[in-house]
Amino acid sequence: MRVTEYLYPESLEAALRLLAAPDTSPIAGGTVVSLEGARAPRLVDITRIGLDQVTLGQGELLIGAAVRAADLTLETLGASPEAMLIAEAAAGMATTPLRNAITVGGNLAYLCGWADLPVAALALDASIEVQQEGAAPQLRPATAWVAQHPRAALPKEALVTALRLPLKPGARGVAYHRFRASATENALVSVAVAVTVAEGICVEARVALGAVTPRPVRAEAVEAALIGGPLTSARIAQAVEALDVRVSPNFRMSPKARTRILAATTRRAILEASQRATGGQA
Ligand SMILES: Cc1cc2nc3c(=O)[nH]c(=O)nc-3n(C[C@H](O)[C@H](O)[C@H](O)COP(=O)(O)OP(=O)(O)OC[C@H]3O[C@@H](n4cnc5c(N)ncnc54)[C@H](O)[C@@H]3O)c2cc1C
Repeated sequence: MRVTEYLYPESLEAALRLLAAPDTSPIAGGTVVSLEGARAPRLVDITRIGLDQVTLGQGELLIGAAVRAADLTLETLGASPEAMLIAEAAAGMATTPLRNAITVGGNLAYLCGWADLPVAALALDASIEVQQEGAAPQLRPATAWVAQHPRAALPKEALVTALRLPLKPGARGVAYHRFRASATENALVSVAVAVTVAEGICVEARVALGAVTPRPVRAEAVEAALIGGPLTSARIAQAVEALDVRVSPNFRMSPKARTRILAATTRRAILEASQRATGGQA
């Protein structure tokens, strides 16, 4: 679609006001618009409205929607298991020039099959903050975010303003693993894991899978099999046998091969997260 107006508001309020008009849509990193074209003739650039901040609050890490993937490092996010998972997910996204453009909000809103941040958000029990003119900010849990594509679930004037991550207490371990055919290709499988261990027993497990279904999903049967016992390699291997996600067809690899790779990647990711949670005692 031909772009007739490109607007640079300087505040969130101004951006929300502009987005409430017809035929208008937000643009952030522009990586989709440059490949697929604009969705509306009027584009509102949201990179100068104060959404490029990271805030470490009480029990929560808030990452503004305009923060670039390249800035999702432990240096900017601080040291926590949650920050580590986001940083690991972001570090392997696309290429360095693209990571300098891709934003957190764009990655969550576009929600393509291989998007990495929604997978990490799902494993971290995160919420996505959404705002629109004349309404109070809304928090949408990552589980709801991936259940229905945001393009269908949200009004077109809604803007993703932040990714909010609860910083959970206890002995936590995380890991983000992906499989792809070459370093610059999209993932064929990605797995985000967050586990909490208390007195040697797994008390919480979240295993999120990306790139294998149209939108990320949780491996709930695997999570249930992990909780309630020690995270030994034998228990982890047994839990992964409960993996019951049907892998979508992909022209690069047969579902059978990808299912096998998914199981191996999931096992490795859980093992690494467990070792991090227990300081290598798992
Ligand atoms: C070659 C290539 C390889 C890639 N590889 C990966 C990869 O391995 N992993 C990965 O995770 N990503 C990857 N990406 C990035 C991903 O596919 C999207 O291009 C990117 O996440 C979009 O972010 P953006 O900030 O550029 O959004 P934009 O292109 O600016 O916008 C994308 C869409 O989201 C909407 N939007 C943007 N910001 C907001 C907001 N705050 N609120 C509401 N709607 C918004 C826009 O209106 C538009 O419809 C790759 C991209 C390319 C081009």
